Amino acid sequence: MNLAGLAARPGLMARSVLAHNAASRPLTLSLPRASPFATSAPLSCKNHKPSSAAVDASDPETNRAGLRADKYTDGLRLNKDWAANTARDHPELFPTLATGQKPQILWLGCSDSRCPETSMLGLQPGDVFVHRNIANIMHPGDLSSGAVIEYAVKYLGVKHIVVCGHTSCGGVAAAMGNKELGILDPWLLPLRQVRERNLSLLQSLSDEEAALKLVELNVREGLSVVTQKSAVLNAIQERGLQVHGLIYDVASGVLRELDIQETEDSLKHRLLAFKTE
Ligand SMILES: [Zn+2]
Repeated sequence: MNLAGLAARPGLMARSVLAHNAASRPLTLSLPRASPFATSAPLSCKNHKPSSAAVDASDPETNRAGLRADKYTDGLRLNKDWAANTARDHPELFPTLATGQKPQILWLGCSDSRCPETSMLGLQPGDVFVHRNIANIMHPGDLSSGAVIEYAVKYLGVKHIVVCGHTSCGGVAAAMGNKELGILDPWLLPLRQVRERNLSLLQSLSDEEAALKLVELNVREGLSVVTQKSAVLNAIQERGLQVHGLIYDVASGVLRELDIQETEDSLKHRLLAFKTE
């Protein structure tokens, strides 16, 4: 039985003025001129003249004019084109987004730069509410992911929750090894616990297969944590909230959906154990 099968009263949707106001006013952060985080480079790419020592013609990021690309500078310039093109192609989008957000999808994924959820889904700003962290680990007591999930489910009324892992995940690779990593060690602990529980299986596989299997097991573990939250269980029952497990192949750009069917007994047990009023 799929989790969606628990839906009893579709149509009930939690709403809040918070949802209406959440995206209406952008937050701006002014950095002092002396801040080490502020760039001293000009914002226009054509004015950027790096020293000859910085230019390496064999570097794939060196452009045809011999200037080494700087993604931040490029991004600021490209943003103007993107904003203009998007406003032209979708004239209603920005005016609509300025009044609030109503995303259908909550995306819980990895911070990896190769996994841009809205782009890989081919969707638009306003479509996906996002929490990403290293190796898409759902710590049961994590305030950050917990607040995102609660807000998305109770106030934004998302229809889908996605936990997405990906191939070639550095966090998973780290958890498959035994190198001391400082602050990352407590963060990766749930992954190591999954590794411990599935050690025999993982040791029977090649390194590459084992890493991919741990990615999948981590997604399943994340889904288990997410569906232990009372707000999620209530939304599944009351309005048919669906949860999904995906794996993104960074080498092809293709998403694969995991089979997360479970028994009716398993669902009943979770409801009894975790649902609160
Ligand atoms: Zn990752």
